Amino acid sequence: MSVIALARPELLRLQPYSSARMEASSGSVWLNANELPWSPGIVTSAGLNRYPQPQPPELLDALAALYGVRAAEVFVGRGSDEAIDLLTRAFCAAGASNVVINPPTFGMYAVAARIQGAAVREVPLLSRQGYALDVPGILAAVTAQTRLVYVCTPNNPTGNAVGAEPLRQLAEALRGRALLVVDEAYAEFADAAPGLPLRSAYEHVVVLRTLSKAHGLAGARIGVAVADTEVIQLLRRIMAPYPLPGPSVAAALAALQPAALADTRSRVALLREERARLGAALAVSNEVIEVLPSQANFLAVRLRDPQATYERLAAAGIIVRSLSRYAGLTDALRFSVGTPDENGALLAALPSTAGVP
Ligand code: PLP
Repeated sequence: MSVIALARPELLRLQPYSSARMEASSGSVWLNANELPWSPGIVTSAGLNRYPQPQPPELLDALAALYGVRAAEVFVGRGSDEAIDLLTRAFCAAGASNVVINPPTFGMYAVAARIQGAAVREVPLLSRQGYALDVPGILAAVTAQTRLVYVCTPNNPTGNAVGAEPLRQLAEALRGRALLVVDEAYAEFADAAPGLPLRSAYEHVVVLRTLSKAHGLAGARIGVAVADTEVIQLLRRIMAPYPLPGPSVAAALAALQPAALADTRSRVALLREERARLGAALAVSNEVIEVLPSQANFLAVRLRDPQATYERLAAAGIIVRSLSRYAGLTDALRFSVGTPDENGALLAALPSTAGVP
């Protein structure tokens, strides 16, 4: 008998999360993982002989100041991926609970639920209404066993943002029934970020933030859940003993210094300009059917022949993400917004946009 036969059979059948870096790690221009295209360049090896603080108070304070909340309302983990995992394990019982998601959306919500043995109830975004949230549909899908309702805004991979009002309606209706998890991984790139004000008004709202995107620290793996203090205490009870590597904590603290935050703001402003430039140039390409309006640092683009475009870009060393596995977006590619030069290389590789400034 193979040792693997002793494992949980449902995990052997599980479709695992497929990350951008697993799918493609070659090429010279990486526009497939929605990272910041610049590195903060922070390197530290000090204190590596010591275990780090599990939840470093200085880091909690700096994050709390950034988000305008109390340190007791902040959990910091190995990326917001870890917060998703811990929320699932804390609130969902195997074989009993369910979570509600709005596809097409970030894959980890469903993967974390399935690993835990929780069911996944899907309420698709309204593609004909700009991928708006189907609030009545979500409320109809919520059962007595629902524990987590996820809303991703701006949404990955469509890029659109959910307004404050539908979120408020959801929060109001879910009070006492389920947690509303508002994933704002891309909030810094958006015109508005309604999650944290909503969180301060409702104890069952959890907001996910990350230093992986706008702050350029994807490699440090620092993500945040902002939640009611009792929820935070529960996450801390079940976290790994030392979740945060010391060098990552040092990198995060450096990224949260005022001068670094000012750099982040100007880089975000530049990426927002580049998003508009790239979107406008792509829209006139005759390979492009539609560029979805985006509030994030990426663009979902529907193409006449997405596979051919993917391969042409790859041949030019430009790695983007295929959305072929997302229902309704099977003809789309997702382009992370890169530096002006990287975006120029992308446009130059699409012949019909070449020469567009
Ligand atoms: N949430 C969304 C919507 C994402 O797109 C990602 C990463 O791509 C994450 C969460 C995870 O981010 P991290 O674990 O790096 O904080």
